[in-house]
Amino acid sequence: MDPINEVQLLAELDNECCGLNHGPNTDSKDFPASDYLVVPVGYVNNDGQDTAVRELVIPVCHECAQSLLQDEWTLIYCLECNSSRWVCRKLAKNAYRHHILWLGGCPDCTNKFGGLYFNDLPSFKQPAELLASHIPVQVC
Ligand SMILES: [Zn+2]
Ligand SMILES: [Zn+2]
Repeated sequence: MDPINEVQLLAELDNECCGLNHGPNTDSKDFPASDYLVVPVGYVNNDGQDTAVRELVIPVCHECAQSLLQDEWTLIYCLECNSSRWVCRKLAKNAYRHHILWLGGCPDCTNKFGGLYFNDLPSFKQPAELLASHIPVQVC
């Protein structure tokens, strides 16, 4: 991300609420954002150089940012409808090793069920990053 956009985003951080799911009956207004999760998506090959077409920017609160950096939780995020949920790795039937799994459609989307794990595709060559703290979050 270019530094100007970065500064702009961080300046607006005070007005943002967490974009991730905190469970039923919660209001995102109760979770002010403290950081952004920045995810490069949609790579194209330009003269042998892979360039991200856009960056997905998701405001996250302190609690979520911490969870992304630790190994207890895996975030499952749908790129189609921006819905998300957290899976506790200890309690999960499947062995989750990743911090984030990306879906190209989920049961919450009305028309599509992609169920696609995007971390296997070349669109995620770079790890997601927490902007304010500049900590790369492992994607796959
Ligand atoms: Zn949050
Ligand atoms: Zn969805």
